[in-house]
Amino acid sequence: MSDDRSFPVPWPSRDSVRITAVRCIVTAPEGIPLVVVCIDTTDDGLHGLGCATFTQRWQAVVAYIEALEPLLVGRSPADIEDLTRLAKLSSYWREGPVGNNAISGIDLALWDIAGKRAGMPVHELLGGRVRGAADAYIHASGPSIGAAVDHAGELLEAGWRNVRIQAGQKGLGAYGAPGTAGAHPGAPYPDGWSVEEYLRQTPELFDRARSELPVGTGLLHDVHSRLTPKQAVLLARRLEPFDLFFLEDVLAPEDWERLPEVRAASPVPIAVGELATSVQAAARLVLTGAVDYLRCHISAIGGLTPGRKLAALAEFTGVRTAWHAPGDTSPVGAAANIALDVTSPAFGIQEGYVFSEVVHEVFPGTLRIVDGWIRPNDSPGWGIELDERAAAAYPPGHSAHDVWASRVRSPDGTLRAP
Ligand code: MG
Repeated sequence: MSDDRSFPVPWPSRDSVRITAVRCIVTAPEGIPLVVVCIDTTDDGLHGLGCATFTQRWQAVVAYIEALEPLLVGRSPADIEDLTRLAKLSSYWREGPVGNNAISGIDLALWDIAGKRAGMPVHELLGGRVRGAADAYIHASGPSIGAAVDHAGELLEAGWRNVRIQAGQKGLGAYGAPGTAGAHPGAPYPDGWSVEEYLRQTPELFDRARSELPVGTGLLHDVHSRLTPKQAVLLARRLEPFDLFFLEDVLAPEDWERLPEVRAASPVPIAVGELATSVQAAARLVLTGAVDYLRCHISAIGGLTPGRKLAALAEFTGVRTAWHAPGDTSPVGAAANIALDVTSPAFGIQEGYVFSEVVHEVFPGTLRIVDGWIRPNDSPGWGIELDERAAAAYPPGHSAHDVWASRVRSPDGTLRAP
């Protein structure tokens, strides 16, 4: 059957199934707006779900998806690569987190439909498993070194084997690590954060973690892009005795060209990529020797289709994957990470996030983490549904600035990375 639309497709479709609508559902069951794309088809009940969550600017993604819908309605849902290329190329200017999250929503929804039509989970469409489950890590944090290590100990007792540890600091007050105010009296910004103190304190944190936590514990740390290249080298060298699994986001994206020299200066494995907003930027991290672990936020680079290409690139270059998976990834996006994890020989580790029960209520089929291992859902597609009635009970707040606005500053008042 040929396509008779105004944007003709130069090949016949094997059947008559067509896209009828591309809808956006925004729900915030944990207070974090999650953007989900639902693609409906002419086949009664056949639909797909994709993750388009750019929680900090979700309204922009919703508008972008509305703009894309007319390009997709009437097309066969089977042409995933062509449809996502069409969505990307048709804007002329391309890439960036808004457009790529919108395209990711479409891409993942089309993979869901493909799986449902085949009666297979997406990981089987990708070639099937090479491992039984994804080994995951979880976040431990506390207002002090002692509290952070104690939290890590509790998580290990609960069955986790790998912990990312962040300790609070004067002036920090960022995600996962509380801060204390007024540490710099007389300074232009008395509540500021001191990089020198961070470089002193972080080795103390991991010295204590290594001495108090069980032998063999995987220890990870996230710098949150707050160092210069030389400071990053200094921190990596100071952390060498503690045998970290990886050190994350040592440099801001603006400085990524300096990553190869940081990586070469110390044996501590370097993990970067969650702030990549194009697949080419992520590929360059691999191709320039900038990373040991590539940890993209899959929806920010356009979805599963570019993600599987990066996994293949990593496989051939000795790089490992560690896909980003915070609370601002929907359960559908989290399932896409696991599909890549269990099918790629380049898998390294998976960031874990424990969704609360209310998320399971809105998204039946959401994957559960058991003893630090994440297994994919074996139902067709992602095996995850969206209860739209339940989702509607958790509307997103209008502004996310109270949560996400950057508020870490140096004692002299300079704004730092969040
Ligand atoms: Mg991070």
